[in-house]
Amino acid sequence: MRAVNQSFTMRAGAASAGTKVSGAEVHGLAAVEQEIAQACKEARRERGSVTLIAVSKTFDADSILPVLAAGQRVFGENRVQEAKAKWPALVAGHPGTELHLIGPLQSNKAKEAVALFDAIHSVDRESLAEALSKALPLAGRAVELFVQINTGEEPQKAGVAPQDADAFLTACRERWGLTIAGLMCIPPVDEAPAPHFALTAKIARRNGLSKLSMGMSADFATAIEFGATHVRVGSAIFGHR
Ligand SMILES: *Cc1c(COP(=O)(O)O)cnc(C)c1O
Repeated sequence: MRAVNQSFTMRAGAASAGTKVSGAEVHGLAAVEQEIAQACKEARRERGSVTLIAVSKTFDADSILPVLAAGQRVFGENRVQEAKAKWPALVAGHPGTELHLIGPLQSNKAKEAVALFDAIHSVDRESLAEALSKALPLAGRAVELFVQINTGEEPQKAGVAPQDADAFLTACRERWGLTIAGLMCIPPVDEAPAPHFALTAKIARRNGLSKLSMGMSADFATAIEFGATHVRVGSAIFGHR
């Protein structure tokens, strides 16, 4: 992660000098790309089997534009309102841009979410599954859905408990008619992530799901080792929030 740390230094230096160095994010992106390529090589996986989601939450257009200019086209946001304020103009100027919602979604915002996002990683309860089942046909566009698993069973964290995952996935399919593409997890901050990635992959496998959204700035290489198809990387690209 040496190159990434360098970009943090650049960013901090630029901020203290009151000047904007738009290159910092681009350096961060290149370092992350390099580490993804290395992790894929070590796991004997194709680079194309991993999608990098650049998590731009809290960062404004000035930080996002250089990353778009560098060719990155998949971005993650954790709040509907923030994404709605920030992204339509950026998407209009950059065709092919894909937006992923990675944060919790309130059922009453399902309609707005499916109008704006190409993927939702936080499906975690029947009320939301129901809201999505109503909103999706009206949106008339494909939205890829991930069910979030609370692998650490943390009370403050969103997600379905591991032991409830199979039943919830069945309900999504049979009761709400939703196609679920894969699973997402956020391991507890104070634990080794590998067992959480392994558990998520195991639940996906036994439910016939091919996509795994797992791995953030600190652990995306490990996640790739455990089969991540989508890594959600924020601070290693954009700097500290
Ligand atoms: C913020 C966030 C990320 C990115 O975290 P970093 O540590 O900055 O890479 C990934 N996933 C979710 C769900 C997030 O909220």
